[in-house]
Amino acid sequence: MKGSIYLGKYAKVKVFVHWTFFILIIYILFLGISLGQQASAIGWHILFILSVFLCIILHEFGHVITGQKLGYKTKDIIILPIGGISRFEKLPDSPKEEFLISISGPLVNLVIAILLYMISPFSLSNFPSLDLTELNRANFLFLLFEVNLLLGIFNLVPAFPMDGGRVFRALLSLFISKIKATEIASAVGTVFAIGFILLGIFFNPFLVLIGLFIIFSASNESSVVNISALLEGHTAGELVMRKVVLLDENVTISDASKEILDGQSTSFGIVSSQRKVIGTVSREILIDSLKTNDLKTPLYKIMNPISNSVPSHTLLKDLIADKALDKNNLVPVSENGEIIGMINLENILEFIAFKKATPDWEKILNRGNPI
Ligand SMILES: [Zn+2]
Repeated sequence: MKGSIYLGKYAKVKVFVHWTFFILIIYILFLGISLGQQASAIGWHILFILSVFLCIILHEFGHVITGQKLGYKTKDIIILPIGGISRFEKLPDSPKEEFLISISGPLVNLVIAILLYMISPFSLSNFPSLDLTELNRANFLFLLFEVNLLLGIFNLVPAFPMDGGRVFRALLSLFISKIKATEIASAVGTVFAIGFILLGIFFNPFLVLIGLFIIFSASNESSVVNISALLEGHTAGELVMRKVVLLDENVTISDASKEILDGQSTSFGIVSSQRKVIGTVSREILIDSLKTNDLKTPLYKIMNPISNSVPSHTLLKDLIADKALDKNNLVPVSENGEIIGMINLENILEFIAFKKATPDWEKILNRGNPI
């Protein structure tokens, strides 16, 4: 995420803190000074925020370590003023895995809360209230206990995509499809988000931010779930484009550019002198190469070689997740070592649009001859 500061790497995961987090520290300094607090009181507040920050990182590592145990890699952890985010390379497939990964973060806070409660000099019968303006050395650990208890419970509220919402969706997915479960969890999440925003306006501006975050990320994730459900079980071989214009490997990039201006093709298969397909060239590769190469450069020097081909049985959802297809990159599709055609993201997006538009979508799948 832009504007994030790298803190270090633990358990192979990079941890970042977003710059907006420091607004929080500056806000506390400013508040302390304007209330005429002593330097030591302000110091205790900053130490408290940093301790909460550490507990949030530990919460994220709860998700990360459980994910790693189940075989899911994490890209990074980002700490924002409203909490942390662990970005997994891939979202868990099974409800059981999603349940375990989601619940482990709040559980970390609850375990920290229990430990702090045990070492704190207060007990539930004579505890100080959660009033951070009264923070001092004596009640520091107990207030940290209260914050961890709140963090654990708050994150278990079933407001998808917060942890509790994911736990809720995982439990629903045991009985209904993942799309339906996501729809229901998102709807419940939106109700909570609106509640947070209304409460936040009166009591705490952070709740407003959390509410907005829930609304935006919930709609984002439901569309990802929808797309992967529409692609479920479909392979590259089903969608492969077979009507590809073929150009000889020795055609120059200047002639290939003319070909694009002259017709509808935006990408080509490249063939050797024995008329065997050896690679692909898309409009984007061609434009890029025009910037740095001589106009007489032959296509074989700039093509995406066949060695980058994907087997026809590759699942479309894996192809998308792998980022092998950025917008116009044309990937050759092979079957038994022979190239049968090409595939690109536009192709897949068209298929999604057709599948949504008609229940008879199967009749329009490509069934042409191999190229
Ligand atoms: Zn979490």
